[in-house]
Amino acid sequence: MTAELIDGKAFAATLRARIAEQVARLRADHAITPGLAVVLVGEDAASSVYVRSKGKATVEVGMESFQHRLPADAPQADLLALVERLNADPAVNGILVQLPLPAHMDEAAVINAIAPEKDVDGFTVLNAGRLATGQKAMVPCTPLGCLMLLRDRLGSLAGLNALVIGRSNIVGKPMAQLLLADSATVTVAHSRTRDLPGLCRRADIVVAAVGRARFVQGDWIKPGATVIDVGINRTDAGLVGDVDFDAARAVAGAITPVPGGVGPMTIACLLANTLTATARARGLPDPRGLTP
Ligand code: NAD
Repeated sequence: MTAELIDGKAFAATLRARIAEQVARLRADHAITPGLAVVLVGEDAASSVYVRSKGKATVEVGMESFQHRLPADAPQADLLALVERLNADPAVNGILVQLPLPAHMDEAAVINAIAPEKDVDGFTVLNAGRLATGQKAMVPCTPLGCLMLLRDRLGSLAGLNALVIGRSNIVGKPMAQLLLADSATVTVAHSRTRDLPGLCRRADIVVAAVGRARFVQGDWIKPGATVIDVGINRTDAGLVGDVDFDAARAVAGAITPVPGGVGPMTIACLLANTLTATARARGLPDPRGLTP
């Protein structure tokens, strides 16, 4: 058996096209243009690439992109003042502070200074709490993208055994919350977990967010399982995921490739969240199909 490929790139392209249509309708019907502000502190090469591609994708769906750069040695007070200005700016519907921040800054303090309704990354304590308690939240982009791919593939997730490998605030924890809200039976594994292969073999859904190249082995996968590989690891052989793709593909029912799986969904979901935030700011109904 060879697993079906879950084409995140194609799914994300369709999603972006739908978002572009809804942006055009907002402009035509309400004279509103959603705006996304991205803040980059310092010169980190990978972060600069992410910020540039986020800006490009924003403009491509017809939204306004605002980019702000601060030097690596900027005092935290300068960054907080910028966030406050963006919080108060009606042209800005979404604010994203690119992580990681320089070591002298308190990441949690900066993130939590973002107005929750503009927190399109969904990283503020308020949005994390809303997600965990089943209230309307801004949901972190990567897990939201994974959820969309899973629902597209499986329909209802109710009663399925889901294993999330990784417990970060950015991926693992919100992923587990989303799966739980969809009535999956969720296990969260991490660096201290015992018998990960055994847990994996019982899972109908595996979401791997570990950050180790080809960590999840093919013979850990339950035949027919759906495997979502969040990992992005740079190796001599190029970009690889957290799953040993070739071996897992021979056993799984469906699997995301790296690249071309989860990655493109993350940016598409950032645009989805910006559109949702814009609609909510104007008292309009949530755009369809973009929220959990
Ligand atoms: P992280 O380093 O914050 O978390 C990694 C998690 O893996 C930790 O919770 C840790 O407990 C767990 N872990 C480490 N070793 C383990 C082991 N031996 N067994 C089981 N669990 C173990 O990473 P993150 O920010 O959650 O990112 C995870 C991966 O996803 C990285 O490769 C990152 O690049 C990638 N990522 C991709 C996207 C995307 O858009 N595709 C977005 C965010 C992160």
